[in-house]
Amino acid sequence: MPELRHDPVQKRWVIIATERAKRPFDFTRGNDAPQSGKCPFCDGNEFATPPEIAAFRDKNAPNGPNWKVRVVPNKYPALRIEGDLERAAAGQYDRMNGIGAHEVIIETPEHDKDISDLPIDHIACILTMYRTRLLDLQRDSRFRYILIFRNHGAAAGASLEHPHSQIIATPVTPRTVAMELQSARAHYQLKERCIFCDIITEELREHSRIVSADDDFVTWCPYASRFPFEMMLAPRRHSHDFAAMDDAQILRLARHLREVILRMKESLDDPPYNFLLHTAPSFQVKNARVGYWTTIEHDWHWHFEILPRLTKTAGFEWGTGFYINPTKPEDAAQYMRDVRLK
Ligand SMILES: [Zn+2]
Ligand SMILES: [Zn+2]
Repeated sequence: MPELRHDPVQKRWVIIATERAKRPFDFTRGNDAPQSGKCPFCDGNEFATPPEIAAFRDKNAPNGPNWKVRVVPNKYPALRIEGDLERAAAGQYDRMNGIGAHEVIIETPEHDKDISDLPIDHIACILTMYRTRLLDLQRDSRFRYILIFRNHGAAAGASLEHPHSQIIATPVTPRTVAMELQSARAHYQLKERCIFCDIITEELREHSRIVSADDDFVTWCPYASRFPFEMMLAPRRHSHDFAAMDDAQILRLARHLREVILRMKESLDDPPYNFLLHTAPSFQVKNARVGYWTTIEHDWHWHFEILPRLTKTAGFEWGTGFYINPTKPEDAAQYMRDVRLK
């Protein structure tokens, strides 16, 4: 059973999940990524994954072939779905059981396709699956936050080549999300406006950091980007919850997302990248404090962060929380805007 331990100085929870790597030997680098024939995510190898949680497929035959998008539990979960939280003090420390969900969204049966190689309606299928899983996991009152993310390329932490996203539901709000939520709430309390709506308005007016903007979505390089070619994608109209999107909006998001990923890939020759969704936290929280976040619908604005992994996080960054970004966000945005897409 994984365990959550709280660092009282950093105010940060750490997941101790020993099932994932047991001995120092397991940390040494080795390329044991399976080839496409043996890949558990490939069409025809459905038996190699734990039984599926959900899928979009033509015929209703779970765990068989002919699917478009498939969701399975992670075989080596960072957190486990079964059990109670059992919050406890351990001397001066806090701990709880490593309860959560860890799922894999297999985005296509085809091993060699990246998300941006897929047709728009297939990308919409993947995003619809994000919505389906969010709605389902949000009903579990043990979870405070549900993060969807995608690692592309070994340098971004992808252990399997086959295109997939992951979902991790956590029983505490992760520190990074909590910090964003708190600044959004403080901004709203002061100004009665959403901080992200304010940023989007300013970015559209300024224009120099815009990568792509259409009637529904906008992608820009953040003013204080940590990494070269870092991007933020958000709906132009205020919305706190990704899962509140209808099918038509999801289709338009699929088109927009495909375009910005293609712009990044063309600019940087298919870089490793991480991509993550910051939607509103779960509302069904057990034992939520009275008045816990009553303004969330107004102060939070869902967004994707897209982070190409071109630089390494080293001593200075770890020691300070500062980032040194060698590329001006304005230059990165212009570079990606100027890409001529085929
Ligand atoms: Zn595969
Ligand atoms: Zn907003």
